[in-house]
Amino acid sequence: MSNTYGYAGSILQVDLSQGDLVSLPTKEYADRFVGGRGFAAKIYWDSSAPEHKAYDPQNRLIFANGPLAGFPGLAGSRWQVCGKSPGIIPEFFSYANFGGSWGAWLKFAGYDAVIIEGISDTPVYLLIQDGKAELKEASFLWGKGALEVREMLKGIHGKSIRVAAIGPAGDNKAVMANIIAEDDSSGSCGFGAVMGSKKLKAIAVGTSERNVIAANPEKLQELIRHIRRLKKDSRFIFAGPHRMWSAYVPENLKLNPKLKKSTCYGCGSGCTRATYEAENGQKGKYLCVAAVFYADPSKQIGAWNDVHFHASRLCNEYGLDVFSIATIIGWLHKCYRAGIVTDEKIGIPISKIGSLEFIDTLVKQLSLRQGFGDVLALGVMRAADKLGSAAKKQLENWIYPRTGTPYPYQPRKFIITGLSFMTEPRAPMPQLHEIVFPIHLWWDWCNKIEGAYVSDEVIRSLSKKFFGSEDALDFSTYEGKALAAKQLQDRVYVKECLNLCDFAWPMMDVKHSQDHVGDRSLPSKVFAAVTGREMEVQELDSIGERIFNLQRAILLREGHEGRKDDVLPEFDYTVPLPKTSGSDPKSSMPGKNGEVIYRQGMVVDREKFEKMKDEYYQLRGWDLKTGYIQEDTLQKLGLEDVAVQKKVYKYRE
Ligand code: SF4
Repeated sequence: MSNTYGYAGSILQVDLSQGDLVSLPTKEYADRFVGGRGFAAKIYWDSSAPEHKAYDPQNRLIFANGPLAGFPGLAGSRWQVCGKSPGIIPEFFSYANFGGSWGAWLKFAGYDAVIIEGISDTPVYLLIQDGKAELKEASFLWGKGALEVREMLKGIHGKSIRVAAIGPAGDNKAVMANIIAEDDSSGSCGFGAVMGSKKLKAIAVGTSERNVIAANPEKLQELIRHIRRLKKDSRFIFAGPHRMWSAYVPENLKLNPKLKKSTCYGCGSGCTRATYEAENGQKGKYLCVAAVFYADPSKQIGAWNDVHFHASRLCNEYGLDVFSIATIIGWLHKCYRAGIVTDEKIGIPISKIGSLEFIDTLVKQLSLRQGFGDVLALGVMRAADKLGSAAKKQLENWIYPRTGTPYPYQPRKFIITGLSFMTEPRAPMPQLHEIVFPIHLWWDWCNKIEGAYVSDEVIRSLSKKFFGSEDALDFSTYEGKALAAKQLQDRVYVKECLNLCDFAWPMMDVKHSQDHVGDRSLPSKVFAAVTGREMEVQELDSIGERIFNLQRAILLREGHEGRKDDVLPEFDYTVPLPKTSGSDPKSSMPGKNGEVIYRQGMVVDREKFEKMKDEYYQLRGWDLKTGYIQEDTLQKLGLEDVAVQKKVYKYRE
C-alpha cells in the first residue's frame, strides 16, 4: 500500500457485472478535489451520463472518507456516499453523510474511496481486508436485517470488522432505504435501494493495524490539544448531557444510566450521540431525529415507554430512513383524520398510531412491499399521487417536494437558507446547521441561560467574520444574505471533502476567549499538518467553491434548469410562517442593533428573493438570466475539463 500523508493512496473500483476489482491511484484526485464529496463529484462527473437512472448498472455508488479520517481528536472521520438517488423527485445526483467508524476503517484497510458499478447476477458482499478486496457470495444474507447481517459477518470475519449493510427495504428497492453502518450510522437519499438494485448486501472492512501518517505530527498534536481546549464548554451540543431531545424526553430519562454517550471514531469530545438500552435489553443509537421521530405519536398511547426506541431500531433493522418514515406517518395520520384512509383500506392499523403494532406493521409492509406498503415504498409524493387529490392535499404547505420529507430550517424564518435549498438536490443539513447553531446559542443568551455567551455583540462579530457582513445574521433585512450563502457553501464544501463533522465545525463561537469568536483558519491549519499542503483560508475555500460548482454542473447536466428551477416551494411566498409549538412560538431572530424580531407570520418576499438571487449569481460568476455557470468561472476554478465536457452535453446554454 502506498501511504502518502493523510491518504491511504488507493481508490477501489468494483464492477459487479464483471466481477472485476481494480485499484486506482488517489493522487489523481487529491490535489484538486481533496477527498469525500470532492472525490465523489469528480468520479461521478467523469463516469456517469445524465440518462442513466438510479437503478441502472451504470449508476456509480461512491463511498469516500477524507484525508483526516483515522486521526484522533478532529471529528474528521465521517464519510460520504454519493450517486444518483431514487429518493429525489426527479432522480438526481445526491449525497449522504455518515458517522461511526466505518470510514476510518476503510482508510486503515487501504482505501480512500470505493466505487461500485454494475449489477451482480446473485447477491454478494464486498470484503476489504488489509488492502485486499474480494466479492463473496451473499445469498444466505439476502432478506435479513441490516443489524443481523452486521452480526453475522462479524461472526464469520471477526468482531473487529466494520460493516455497512442494507436491510430488506434495500433488498426490495424501497426508495427511502438506507445503508446502515457500524455504530448504527446512517444517511438518507435511498442509497440502500441502489445497493439493493446492484445485489450488493454489504461492505465489510477489516484491518490488522490502524495506521495513518501526518506530514507534521508535532504540529498536529499541538492543534488537537488546542481544539480540545476550544471545544470545552463551547458548543451547546457539547455542554449539556442531552439537550437536543430535551423537548421530547421526560426529565427522569435524561440521566438514565441506560442512555450512554457514544462517540464516532476520532471525534475527541462527542455530542448528544448516545446509545440507549431498552427494558428488553436491546441497544441502539439514540441521536437526533432517529431518537425522537416516533416520540410524539407514542405519547398518544399513554405514559412514556420504550416504543419510540423500538420504532427507531425497527427502521435500522429493516434499513429505512427515519426522516422519510416520520413523514409517511404524519401524512397517513392527516389522511386518517380526513377520512381518506382507514385501517381496512390500507391494511395498516392507522387508528393505533403511536403503538408498536402500528409501526411494526408499517415498517414490515413497506420494506417487504406487501399490500399498501408497495405504494408507500415509492415515497410519500408518489404514494399521494396514487391515492388521489384529497391525499395530495394533505401534503400541502409542510413538505419539501424535492425529497418528500419535512422542510427543516426554512427560508421564511432563516432567509439565507432559501439560497441553499434552491441550489441543492436535498435538504443540505450541514449548510442549514451553520446558520441555525449560532442563532440557538444567541436565543439561549436572550433567555439568560446559565453560561450562555453568544450575545448580540458576539452574533454581529461572528456574522462579519464567518458570513461576510454584520447584515448576514440580521434577519430584518435581505442585505448581506447572498454573500453569506456563498461563503458558507464554499466553507461547507471544504468540510464535506475533509469529512469534518458539522456538529463540531467550524467552531464559530468559543467560550474561553475575549471576543468569543472562533478562528476561521483552523481547518486549513489541520489540513496542512495532516497533508503537508499549506493553504490560506481563501485558497482552501476556493477548493470548496470548485466542488460546489462541479456539483452544479452535474445537476445542470441531469436536468436542473438553472434559474428556472432555482425556486422555493410556492407556500414559502404565500403562506405566513405559522406559530410553533416549541419554546419560541414567534420564531425570534436577531435584528438590527440588538433588536429581537419575530419571523412568525412572515413569507419570503418574492421580489427581494429574486434580487438576492441576482446578487448571488453575480458573486458565483453565473449567468444572471439562465443561472448557468459562465465559461470563465469554470476556467478560473480549474474546471477546464468540465468546460470541455459541457460543450459535449450542451446543457441548455
Ligand atoms: S460531534 Fe457527534 S456526530 Fe459529530 S463526530 Fe462527534 S460524536 Fe459523531
